[in-house]
Amino acid sequence: MFILRPSELLQKHLVKLRVQGKTIGFVPTMGALHPGHLSLVEYAQKQNDIVVASIFVNPTQFNDLNDFKLYPRSAEQDIYLLEKAGCDILFLPSTKDIYPAGTSQLPHYELDYLETILEGKYRPGHFQGVCQVVHRLMTLVAPENLYLGQKDYQQCLVLKRLLSLTGSPAQIKICPTLRENDGLAMSSRNMRLMPEERNLATGIYKALTFINEQLQPGTLAAIKEDAVRILCKYHLKPDYVEIADADTLQLLSSWDGCKKIVAVIAAFMGQVRLIDNMILPLNFASYAN
Ligand code: AMP
Repeated sequence: MFILRPSELLQKHLVKLRVQGKTIGFVPTMGALHPGHLSLVEYAQKQNDIVVASIFVNPTQFNDLNDFKLYPRSAEQDIYLLEKAGCDILFLPSTKDIYPAGTSQLPHYELDYLETILEGKYRPGHFQGVCQVVHRLMTLVAPENLYLGQKDYQQCLVLKRLLSLTGSPAQIKICPTLRENDGLAMSSRNMRLMPEERNLATGIYKALTFINEQLQPGTLAAIKEDAVRILCKYHLKPDYVEIADADTLQLLSSWDGCKKIVAVIAAFMGQVRLIDNMILPLNFASYAN
């Protein structure tokens, strides 16, 4: 695996591969890698000649400075895991590589409704930061395919919007959420949970599966309230439990029994904020194809 920085070195390397007609699949990450990240690398390997992963903990997408400082970092272990997974290139940019002119005058992206709800509402500015870093990374890597996890469902829709706003021809491939045996979605943030908190965090998956089991056409208020009760039983403090149109993320108060929908949850376990989602009905879910 080539570990490349600064950005000029990455670009030089990629030009050579392009001349040879190689296709590139790109997996952007913030590191502290787990099998969920590595599954994206695996999807990318199947569909491209070359896999480029990046690790960059992007300061502009953290609305909480403390969260940025506490974000887990494990560079050596990450390099080992990516090498073992057969990743071809790891781009390890510095802040200067990503923001050569600093961070005070970055572009603003017209995300409209998408950044007024759910993560956008609870983490103001977060999706602008995500777009800033991914726009820059996409300019540098210029991949054919961009691999994203369904785990960050709203982020997938935001980045679809980004590619359309910036005229990028890359295809987005959304890969399924990898879970621990008890259903907890794998996340770098799980490392920050104490053992008891880690066990209780499975309440998020319990609430999602409850919604799946109880879902019926008609009003959704009662099912959401019951899901909140499940979270509270597990000592989780919800920011939101919502059910939304899976294509537009319009929040729904009732379901017609036909539309593809997504149940989304964000909740705190102690100091750690966790998110998860489930596309419903379950047979609607289809991935990285
Ligand atoms: P992050 O490092 O958290 O920015 O995540 C990098 C990429 O990995 C994003 O596209 C995430 O959606 C994806 N990802 C994170 N957790 C999982 C998971 N449990 N399963 C699959 N993909 C994931």
